[in-house]
Amino acid sequence: MVELAEAPAASDTQILYAHDPSYLVNIIEGRLSSKEQREIGFPWSEKMVERSRRSAGATIAAAKTALEEGIAVNLAGGTHHAYRDMGSGFCVFNDSAIAARALQKEVHPNLKVAIIDLDVHQGNGTASILKNDASIFTLSIHGENNFPFKKEESDLDLGLADECDDNTYLIALEKCLDQLNTRFKADFVIYLAGADPHEGDRLGRLKLTKNGMRQRDEAVFQYALDRKLPLAMSMAGGYGKEIASTVDIHFQTIQTALQYQQQY
Ligand SMILES: [Zn+2]
Repeated sequence: MVELAEAPAASDTQILYAHDPSYLVNIIEGRLSSKEQREIGFPWSEKMVERSRRSAGATIAAAKTALEEGIAVNLAGGTHHAYRDMGSGFCVFNDSAIAARALQKEVHPNLKVAIIDLDVHQGNGTASILKNDASIFTLSIHGENNFPFKKEESDLDLGLADECDDNTYLIALEKCLDQLNTRFKADFVIYLAGADPHEGDRLGRLKLTKNGMRQRDEAVFQYALDRKLPLAMSMAGGYGKEIASTVDIHFQTIQTALQYQQQY
């Protein structure tokens, strides 16, 4: 059974787990230069602030729910291009970094979190914010030739060539999950399940089929299930040439999540 809940807004305190106080004040008060707004990709408004708070709050809520139920999902979020003091690429607050730290500060201080970012774009903001944090592991598998063109250093990065197919992708993912397993003892997984590696995506440059996308999701869910790790998922990007194909991929991910949730 799936239960839908309204996304709560992240508080100032929670946002400050991952962001600079002066950046938060500038966002709240609408003091962003036109250059900063262009970098984010949409204009400032009060609604934009509220939307960004709730998008981050939903990942926190999903994370806390996953502790009880195994898997929980934010139907937005995955805003991984947001830096500590700068928004970028449609991302204002970094929900993954905020939620990982919220678990540590509000639930258990020793909780170790693996962020598995399979959106086709590198999780540069997440990597930057968490660079010196050994308690949170950042893994990003992305298109090497895609935005952001200046990559940051995650704990584990894999940049894929254009036109990457299912087989190449799934083998690479398996290797990365093996490495994650060797290098980090996670208590919790945050999964960014971007739909943009799909072949129907306008921006993705990769060639994963719908079936390959399902196998990708299964590999991550299986990794978490085998270790009985709670998993919070966010949707991240998706820019289908046909919007219906993006909806289809996201929907498939939710269906797969539900199948795995029932095994916890
Ligand atoms: Zn993306």
